[in-house]
Amino acid sequence: MTEQDLRLLLGFYKSLDFHELIVSNQGQNEGMPSMGEDEFIFHNTESIEGISYIKNSIGDCKLCKLHSTRKNIVFGEGSDRAEIMFIGEGPGADEDIQGRPFVGKAGQLLTNLIIKLGLTREAVYIANIVKCRPPENRDPEPDEISACIGFLKEQIRFINPKVIVALGKVATHSLLNIAEPLAKYSIMRERGRLKEYVDKDLKIPLMPTYHPSYLLRNRQAKWDVWEDMQIVMRKIKNE
Ligand code: SF4
Repeated sequence: MTEQDLRLLLGFYKSLDFHELIVSNQGQNEGMPSMGEDEFIFHNTESIEGISYIKNSIGDCKLCKLHSTRKNIVFGEGSDRAEIMFIGEGPGADEDIQGRPFVGKAGQLLTNLIIKLGLTREAVYIANIVKCRPPENRDPEPDEISACIGFLKEQIRFINPKVIVALGKVATHSLLNIAEPLAKYSIMRERGRLKEYVDKDLKIPLMPTYHPSYLLRNRQAKWDVWEDMQIVMRKIKNE
C-alpha cells in the first residue's frame, strides 16, 4: 500500500466517525487492509466514549446512602486499555476531596509499587468497589456495595484487563461474590493465589492481595504483596 492509498483510507475511516488508530503487530483483523506484519485496529466513537458513557451514567448518583456524606464521586482513573486493574474497597478522605482514587498515604504506597513494577499510574487502571467515601473510613456495607458495583462491572467489562488485582478483603470478597460472610473471610488465607473474576461471559484472572493501608501498619507484608505481583506480572507476560 502506498502512502497516498493510506491517506485515502484514513480519510475514509475518519468520514465514518472513527477517531483513533492503533498500530499492532498481533493477529489479523477481518476486513482491514494488510500492512505486512502490522495491521490496523480502529476504535469507533462509541468505544472511545464508552468509559465516559459509564461516568456520565453515574451523574449525581444517589443510589445509596453514601451520597449524603461524599464531597466527590471517585470514578477511577488510568488507561482504558490497561492490562492490570487495581481495585480497592472505597475512597478515603483524600480521595473524597480530590475525586481521585488512591491519592493519600496508602495511594502513595500503591503508586510506588506500580513504579517498582516498571509501570505508571497512567498505564494501569485504579478504581474502588464503591465510588463514594464511607464515613470514618468504615468498610462499605452490603447494600452500598450492591448499589454501586454495577458501575465497576461496566468499567471492568469495557477495559477488559488481563489481570485484576483486588486490594484487600472487601474488594476480593465483593469481586469474587463470596458467599462466606465477610467477617469470616480471610485475605491472609486467600492472597497469593490467582482466582477468577466472572461476570456473565467475562472471565478475568484475579489476584487477591493486601490493601495498601494494611501495608502502612504492617510493613513486612509488603514482601507478600511483591510476591503476589510477581505472579501477576508473569501471568501477563505469558499470555
Ligand atoms: S457509592 Fe456508588 S451507588 Fe452509592 S451514591 Fe456513590 S456512586 Fe451511587
